[in-house]
Order: sequence, then C-alpha cells, then structure tokens
Amino acid sequence: MASYDFDLITIGGGSGGVRASRMSAAHGARVALIESGPLGGTCVNVGCIPKKLFSYAAHLASDIDDARGFGWSVDGARFDWKTLLANKDREITRLNGVYARVLQDVGVKVIAGRARVLDPHTVAVGDQTLIAAHLLIATGGRAVKPDIAGADLGITSDQAFHLDALPRRAIVVGGGYIAVEFASIFNGLGVSTTLLHRGPQLLRGFDPDLGRVLAEELAQHGITLVLEQTPAGLTREEDGLRLMLASGRSIDTDLVMFATGRLPNVAGLGLEEAGVKLAKNGAIQVDDFYCSSVPSIHAIGDVIDRVQLTPVALAEGMALARTLFGNDPARLDYSNIPTAVFSHPNIGSVGLTEAQAREKHGPVDIYRTRFRPLKATLSGSAERVFMKLVVARDSGRVLGAHMVGAEAGEVIQGLAVALNCGATKAQFDATLGIHPTTAEEFVTLRERDPA
Ligand code: FAD
Ligand code: NDP
Repeated sequence: MASYDFDLITIGGGSGGVRASRMSAAHGARVALIESGPLGGTCVNVGCIPKKLFSYAAHLASDIDDARGFGWSVDGARFDWKTLLANKDREITRLNGVYARVLQDVGVKVIAGRARVLDPHTVAVGDQTLIAAHLLIATGGRAVKPDIAGADLGITSDQAFHLDALPRRAIVVGGGYIAVEFASIFNGLGVSTTLLHRGPQLLRGFDPDLGRVLAEELAQHGITLVLEQTPAGLTREEDGLRLMLASGRSIDTDLVMFATGRLPNVAGLGLEEAGVKLAKNGAIQVDDFYCSSVPSIHAIGDVIDRVQLTPVALAEGMALARTLFGNDPARLDYSNIPTAVFSHPNIGSVGLTEAQAREKHGPVDIYRTRFRPLKATLSGSAERVFMKLVVARDSGRVLGAHMVGAEAGEVIQGLAVALNCGATKAQFDATLGIHPTTAEEFVTLRERDPA
C-alpha cells in the first residue's frame, strides 16, 4: 500500500461519495475526493433539499387557504419567486460549506475537477495523476429526456431550480417521483399545471392504491392529468411551446419539464476501458460488497442503479467504508426501505405492496381507510387521507404500510421501525393512539377488506 498516494480515491462528492470518504477517513484511511461540481451532489444542489424547500413554499398556498376557516384574514398574500430562489440558494451555499468542513475535519483531501479512470488504480484530474489502492465511483445519475424532436426546448428538474421566472402554464411529463413532486410545486405556486403520463397509473412500483388516490387528490388540487398519452415532439410557437402527442393531440404551454427518469453517470469516466462491467443502461455492476468486476474499483449510489435514494447511498457508503477499512465486511438489507414522495398531498410507504405480499407470503389481509382529517372540518379542504396496511394472514405480521396525506413521510418513518422489528397487526392494535392525530388511525384500523 505504501506506494499509493491514497488508500481511497472517491470520484463524486454527493451523498454516497462524501459519506464513504468521511467514514473511510474515520477508519484511518488516506482519502482523496474528486468533485466536478459543488459538494453535496444531486441531493443538496438539485434534489432532495431544494425540492423540499420548494415543496414547503407550494404547500403554504393551501395553508393560506385553510387559514380562512380558522378565522384568519389573509387577503393580499403574494408570492415572490425570486425571494424563494435567493433564500434557497443561500441555504444551499451554507450546506456546500458544511460538507467542505466535514471532509476537511476528518482529513479528506478534496480536489475540484472532472476525474477519469486511467487504470484500476489510477485517476486523472486536470493535469494531475493520482494512484490509490481503491477507487470508488460515486458519480450519481443524470436526468434523461425522451428521444423526441424538439426535446431540447424542454427542461429537466436541474433547470427547474433556477428558472428566471415562473411560467404561466407548465406541462410536467412523467408519472414518477419527480413528476408528481414538481407538478405539485408548480401548481401550488400558481402555475396552471398539466401532468402528462404515458401510463394509466402514477407512481409505478408503489402500491397501486397510492397512485390511484394521488391522481384523484392532484386533480382535486387543480392539476390537469393527461394519462395514457406519449409525447411525440415539441415546437416553439409565437406565444409559447406546443407539445405534440403520439395520439395526434397537442397541448400549448409555456414550459415543458421532462421527469422521465435518470441514468447512471458513467460517460467519459473510462470505466469500460479499465475493465469495469456495466449494465445495458450504464449502471456499474457490483457484488453485495459494492465491488465491481475490477477488484480495486468499487461503486455505490445512483450509479449502481439499485435504489435511487439518498439514505440508501449513505448506507451503501458506510457499508463500503466498513468493508474496506473497518475490517468488518458489511452488506445492506434492501428490504423495508421507507420512502416518501413530496407531492401534495405527500405519499409515505414502507414494505411490500399488496401484490408483492401475496406473491411472497400467500394470503394477506388488507386494512384501508380514507377519511377527512380533522383540520379539513374547519378549513373546508377537500383533501382526504388514505391509509393501508398489508398483513400476512398466517403470522399476522404487518408487511406493508402505505399512506397518502399530510406529512405521510413523517408518519411512515416511525412505522418503518415497527416493520423492521417484525411487528404484527395485533401489536399495532395494542399500541395506544395519540389523539387527535391522523397517524393514530394506523393503530385503530379494525375493518378488514372482505377476503
Ligand atoms: P449524487 O448525489 O448525484 O452525486 C454524484 C456526484 O458526482 C455529483 O456531485 C457529480 O457532480 C459528481 N461527478 C459525476 N461525474 C464526475 C466526474 N467524472 N468527476 C468528478 N465528479 C463527478 N432522494 C431522497 O432520498 N429523497 C428526496 O427527497 C429526493 N429528492 C430528489 C429530487 C430530485 C429532483 C432528484 C433528481 C433526486 C432526488 N433524490 C431524492 C435522489 C437523491 O438525490 C439521489 O439518490 C442521491 O443524490 C444519490 O447520491 P449519489 O452519491 O449516488 O450521487
Ligand atoms: P422515475 O423512474 O421514478 O419515473 C420516471 C417516469 O417517467 C415514469 O413514470 C416513466 O413511466 C416515465 N417515462 C420514462 N421514459 C419516458 C418516455 N420516454 N416518455 C414518457 N414517459 C417516460 O424517475 P424520476 O425521474 O421521477 O426520479 C428518479 C429517481 O430519483 C426516483 O426513482 C427516485 O428513486 C429518486 N427520487 C426520489 C425522491 C424522493 O425520495 N422523494 C424524489 C425525486 C426523485 P413508466 O412508469 O411508464 O415507466
């Protein structure tokens, strides 16, 4: 090892790369981290954090509406996009600084620039060449637009964080996390918003009840849903843009945002030349310990395309650091990963969908409820909460918990602990509620769906 400049060189200073580098340095490794953009990667700069800040801003529109029913006069409330952008940028700059300090404190050498792998131990950045015992690729992913004429006229989420002004009308294309979150953001901020999805149901991969209920709620909030329609082309017209659909229809708008998925960031990294095997979509193929087909090259996070979530990238980074430098080979359990979609209303989900549960565990009991939350009795909001528990019939174990409603992510985080501990429906029932909350309904669900 003595002949190497470093024990570990990490390429990519996002969620996974920063965590793996920090933890490796804490185990005593000599670590360099190369980042071509601002520290913090997607989540901090153009993902989770600015998205959630925008989401808070958008949700406040309904809070202001709700306030009237509670006696508040809120006439004349106005929203200023530039103020939101400036405040968001200030917070992100602060976080970039926190990341730099955290890395500095544990002795990670941060190098600014675009890295390229030259061989299993060597990386080039600018005019430097560095060698290390281990290389870690944590380069994340990038948004992809559909291959249609005029796609360049549309934006992706990256640009949505820096728009000069909010459009009057917007079309968000896609039916996944980013599409429903940004449709809710634009709509909440007063943009006349259309959500265009090629499938019949939003949020593929989630329990279908969530996509179905969310579609109703989004429509109820004023979003125009266009389902089972595929974009075919985009043109600039005198007064905006025109999105042509494969069906022959077209929709006029001022902004088109493609939220049509993300692909691993591997272009120009020199991985295949170094012998690293990639999947068809570019994802780096790794084993249970994040080792690629080249023993000294490892990969974690979105670039391996397992589960594209920040807590997963963080956990993978920690597992890798323990494996490489903690003398403690660590694998990650990918079951029961809780997740939230910050649409309006929120979605929270952990464990198996109804169909997955039936397939894996045979007969299941389903408990679901849809109700008007207490706050709506005075606010007059038409929003309804949806909750669902999927329970194994033989063991009584709760296999899945799913929710559509305010703060669903906050509610489901706690239930994720219960599911990880193998909690049964009887134990849910034996737990006292916190009254009056929405979350208490999860421990008072008594009506089972007819078998
Ligand atoms: P990234 O965070 O993408 O970091 C990769 C880094 O590598 C980047 O900084 C990039 O500049 C750098 N890089 C790439 N190539 C090179 C190179 N050749 N040389 C040097 N540096 C390079 N997840 C959640 O859990 N919750 C959310 O609410 C959430 N919201 C999201 C909202 C949006 C709009 C998006 C796009 C994603 C969201 N995600 C969310 C997903 C989350 O951001 C990612 O799963 C997470 O950032 C992945 O971390 P990573 O370390 O794999 O990659
Ligand atoms: P998703 O994979 O979640 O959704 C992509 C959507 O685009 C799908 O509805 C897909 O349809 C549709 N689509 C794909 N290609 C085309 C096409 N050519 N034409 C029309 N529609 C198309 O990706 P996102 O971009 O929304 O997000 C990427 C990942 O980032 C997420 O999967 C998630 O892991 C992470 N993320 C997490 C968030 C959170 O934790 N709150 C927030 C944002 C992102 P179909 O369903 O038919 O395939």
